[in-house]
Amino acid sequence: MNILPDFRTLRPASLNDAVAALAAGGEPLAGGTDLLPNLRRGLGKPETLVDLTGITGFAAVSVGADGTLRIGAGATLEAIAEDARIVESWPAVAHAASLVAGPSHRAAATLGGNLCQDTRCVFYNQSEWWRSGNGFCLKYEGDKCHVVVKSDRCYATYHGDVAPALMVLNASVEIVGSKGVRQIAIADLFRESGAEHLSLEAGEVLAAVLVPPATGWVAAYSKVRVRDAIDFPLAGVAVAMKRDGNVIAGLRLAITGTNSAPLMVPTDALWGRPWNDEAAEALTQAVRKVSNVLKTTVAGVKYRRRVLLAVARKQVDDLWSGK
Ligand SMILES: Cc1cc2nc3c(=O)[nH]c(=O)nc-3n(C[C@H](O)[C@H](O)[C@H](O)COP(=O)(O)OP(=O)(O)OC[C@H]3O[C@@H](n4cnc5c(N)ncnc54)[C@H](O)[C@@H]3O)c2cc1C
Repeated sequence: MNILPDFRTLRPASLNDAVAALAAGGEPLAGGTDLLPNLRRGLGKPETLVDLTGITGFAAVSVGADGTLRIGAGATLEAIAEDARIVESWPAVAHAASLVAGPSHRAAATLGGNLCQDTRCVFYNQSEWWRSGNGFCLKYEGDKCHVVVKSDRCYATYHGDVAPALMVLNASVEIVGSKGVRQIAIADLFRESGAEHLSLEAGEVLAAVLVPPATGWVAAYSKVRVRDAIDFPLAGVAVAMKRDGNVIAGLRLAITGTNSAPLMVPTDALWGRPWNDEAAEALTQAVRKVSNVLKTTVAGVKYRRRVLLAVARKQVDDLWSGK
């Protein structure tokens, strides 16, 4: 890795000042656990970083009178994983946060940075020297995708762990920019394009995540990674389920680590049916259809595809049987 490039750092104390600094061309910096290693690889040359960690109240976690959980984008993953209210009522979110990277990353890494982290690829997360030997790539400084040659879009993969857990719980995100505040479903924060995977407009900042009460639902998140102590998901699956006697009264499933965005898998056809081999096969086909595993990680494509399908089925199996 290189030394960091020269840039100016601003540390505003209010969200308004942060938005003004971002509108003037700054780039957000939170825990820095994703952004700074990328900059040390020559991936980006920002003139100004806007450190969000000094914003008053940006890390606050609260539960409203209607039971909605509000997590400030500056809350660390460690704080989320250990928050008694989240562990008790939204355990899949706490668990997903606890599985990100290693303990020292989670102490600094924030929810906003986790959701907005860059997409990854074996042809992108390399030194400048390595990438130059390949003529760079479509995601940055080049004009060719080495994963899907002749492609007109980048296929780098999104590997965030927390997004799918929030998606199956119907969370939404609060976004603040110079035009004001807007709220969108968390799934709409993402676009399936490796080079432009966020729908944030220039200068906008993710301010908070809102998770409705999950009464009656059980949810869980599982990931597969090379090193269990510290690694991105090669495949990750979040499931939320509502069981009514012998039928599935509700089922939502989201995947990560396989496409350029975390994606919901359509499961409506399984609602009202029992969970059995036939339903499991239908679920497997639905996950297969949405996923697009390509050669973007060091782990083999066939392995990642198979493990994704196996984890999806097992996750639903476990929730169905109350594990
Ligand atoms: C060895 C290693 C292992 C890792 N393993 C995992 C893993 O298993 N799972 C996983 O999900 N991640 C992993 N990561 C990536 C990273 O550590 C986490 O995603 C972390 O949560 C990023 O948060 P941060 O606050 O450090 O983000 P930063 O690095 O500060 O920012 C990341 C990106 O988000 C933008 N950003 C930050 N906050 C906001 C905001 N509020 N609004 C808009 N944009 C914002 C920044 O501009 C930047 O582009 C790993 C990283 C390393 C180095």
